[in-house]
Amino acid sequence: MCIEMVRREVLKALLLSASGLVLPVSFLHADAAAQVTNMRLWTGPEHTRIVFDLDKKIHYSLQQFSQPDRVVVEMRDVSWALDSALLKVEDAVVGGVRLDNSTTGLVRLEFALKIPAIPNAFLLRSIGGRPPRLVIELQRKEGMEEENPALASLVAQNRRRDPVIVIDPGHGGEDPGAIGSGGTYEKTVTLEVAHRLVKELDAAGCKAYLTRTDDYFVPLRKRVAIARRYSADLFVSLHADAFRIPSARGASVYCLSERGRAETDRSLQVLVERENAADLIGGVDLGQVVDPELRDILVDLSQRDARNRAMAYGSSLLVALKKVPSLRIHFRGVKQAGFAVLKAPDVPSVLVEMAFLSNRDEEMQLRKQDYQEALARALASGTQAFFHSASMA
Ligand SMILES: [Zn+2]
Repeated sequence: MCIEMVRREVLKALLLSASGLVLPVSFLHADAAAQVTNMRLWTGPEHTRIVFDLDKKIHYSLQQFSQPDRVVVEMRDVSWALDSALLKVEDAVVGGVRLDNSTTGLVRLEFALKIPAIPNAFLLRSIGGRPPRLVIELQRKEGMEEENPALASLVAQNRRRDPVIVIDPGHGGEDPGAIGSGGTYEKTVTLEVAHRLVKELDAAGCKAYLTRTDDYFVPLRKRVAIARRYSADLFVSLHADAFRIPSARGASVYCLSERGRAETDRSLQVLVERENAADLIGGVDLGQVVDPELRDILVDLSQRDARNRAMAYGSSLLVALKKVPSLRIHFRGVKQAGFAVLKAPDVPSVLVEMAFLSNRDEEMQLRKQDYQEALARALASGTQAFFHSASMA
């Protein structure tokens, strides 16, 4: 074979694999079996997720059986070296797991289901220092939004009502967000402050709801959808930043920038990319990312009014945050940037970076209950001040 022919053969093989067709046998056998290096289970209100860490991408299949309800995952060209104790998982959906790896190169896992669930599986590529992962998602049938009468009646009741604020604790589950040098996870502090903020706002006569109540992952588009379902008057997403320069410190407040406007500030661009990567790290099935509602939202000009209100809300939060002893402000005004979680067209939405987890002092501060409480009180008073000035206008 001349060199040109070899080149063409290789190209043909690459094209075949890229288009999802079967890889030539010689290619498959060139590599050693993949390893499953860890396994975790996350329980959310609507779904359970089982995540497998891999050392490279694998081939897998998913099957569902009834009587009894179970889901079977088969991984091919994979070796299993995990401690069997990891298989002892159980929650409201999963009753138990059975492993069969008696055939070389084939790992078969059977998940017994306690209640009917809709299974889905997808691979996540390696990102942000995380290995490639296989995600098995078991969506509870009774938990699906469309069939949730409690939420529907709540939304109906709330037409004439107290101000509604949806609080979004950033990250969760597979996605830890920023990690401080002392080991603090952004997803943990955002949830702790969010719970405190709910209490503060409820005590002040508002209705506050969370996009997540525990440690599980919620896709960004779903967080936006929750704000809209509650017909929220305001949406606030809580985060704690990280920066390559450890001395960077202070809180910042952001709202959505004008459609399509690129960030001019490089460090801001990095922050937006990192926050928007949550879906890739936390694990959204890329096959389902195309969301016609969100696509329409992006071209909706009615965002302008919501954005103006968000700017006013952000300013009001900054005024309140400045009063917290020992809290520094990073940017003095409300910054605008293209955060995906702020894209509800009709809900004024802001994102608060409460501090820099990459700063040792601020990391220590953020872990303290007193400080979390002071932050929550300031955010609640800034929210009330916004409603007060809006009703005067
Ligand atoms: Zn974040």
